[in-house]
Amino acid sequence: MSTSIEKLLARREALLGPGNPLFYDNPVHIVKGESVWLYDADGKRYLDCYNNVPSVGHCHPQVVEAITRQAQQLNTHTRYLHETILEYAERLLSTFDESFQRVLFSCTGSEANDVALRMARLWTGGEGFIVTNATYHGNTDAVSKLSSIFPPFDGYGPNIRMVPWPDSYRAMDDLTGEALADAYANKIAEQIDEFKKAGIKFAGMLVCPIFANEGLPRIPDTYMAKAARLVHEAGGLYIADEVQAGFGRTGVMWGHQGQRVTPDIVTLGKPMGAGHPIAGVISRPDVFDHFRQNVMYFNTFGGNPVSCAAGLAVLNVLQNEKLVENSATVGEYVLKGFTKLKEKYDVIGDVRGAGLFFGIDLVSDRNKKTPAPELTNQLVNTMRDKGVLMGKIGEFDNILKLRPPLPFSKDNADMLIQLLDETLQEL
Ligand code: PMP
Repeated sequence: MSTSIEKLLARREALLGPGNPLFYDNPVHIVKGESVWLYDADGKRYLDCYNNVPSVGHCHPQVVEAITRQAQQLNTHTRYLHETILEYAERLLSTFDESFQRVLFSCTGSEANDVALRMARLWTGGEGFIVTNATYHGNTDAVSKLSSIFPPFDGYGPNIRMVPWPDSYRAMDDLTGEALADAYANKIAEQIDEFKKAGIKFAGMLVCPIFANEGLPRIPDTYMAKAARLVHEAGGLYIADEVQAGFGRTGVMWGHQGQRVTPDIVTLGKPMGAGHPIAGVISRPDVFDHFRQNVMYFNTFGGNPVSCAAGLAVLNVLQNEKLVENSATVGEYVLKGFTKLKEKYDVIGDVRGAGLFFGIDLVSDRNKKTPAPELTNQLVNTMRDKGVLMGKIGEFDNILKLRPPLPFSKDNADMLIQLLDETLQEL
């Protein structure tokens, strides 16, 4: 580690306190970004295979221009009339199923999920929520209690119950197909029953439609439809957290599309403003208006004119540069490359992907599917030293997580696959 990095680390710890999360054994000091590239203070270039916030590409000129133009003209809190906000709301809602007609803007995904919980509680009169056993949905007090990978300091409380995430690689009881979907869905039914027994009225289930934090599993085909049916039959709402899955990441605009089930509430965030803090909650008029009529919700910065200009520019770039399509086609190309690597290296237990979102499950024993968290950590750090940034996720911390900005090209993919091949060989 260089002395300048050591000095920054010491200052950071002194000012921001210990335990402030930071990536890599040898942290990266990034000073500049452009499209899929990041540059550190020494001018070293990194291929960004991790960041989904700047999903239209780092510092996209059209987004920068839109933010600058609006910032030069006006930026206020959100209690005035403003056309850009309405134009953005119309454009955003037009990308959804027609049942979604309303949007509330916030600044973070955590706030959006916090509002979604309140909407569901008000609509159902219930308190009980189901989430998975290996997830993260954000950091407000209420939302931190849904986040099983970072347990809340004061416990979960009786109104939160967890179900196994629907993994078809380390499948429950080694089941497959419909039987596996049923087995995972039964876990939801069991927890709904537990709420009943405890006298806690059920309010709903909040999940990421692609189970991104859990490890991006291949979801058993009919699972989501079965899950949503059980939730609805019990009087609850299905909330889809699209904070990671949304805005074209998976090769379609929204993660829940193609799952044969329409959520009651959708929450958005991360890539929405390409780094400008804007997030949102989308729902049907009945659920949404009931919330608005009963709760005075005001968010000073949420959906201000500059944020909405950024959001609008993101939608324009996604459309003009056909980035959702790129996510699908380049995503498929990368997945083929990873599948070839799997044939070559026994430590790769499973590769999975949806658009430009990939999980590579690393194992120390392929037959037993034994997770290999140490190897995963080594790989992430070695790739960083070679100039490729990626992360890791999953219940066992053994899944390489790759989620590059959407302008990722086949050339970028070749570089990634070649360096991954070389690193796997070395390790
Ligand atoms: N939902 C999911 C699925 C997330 O991954 C995250 C953040 N990693 C959040 C919500 C919270 O978003 P934010 O950090 O903007 O509050």
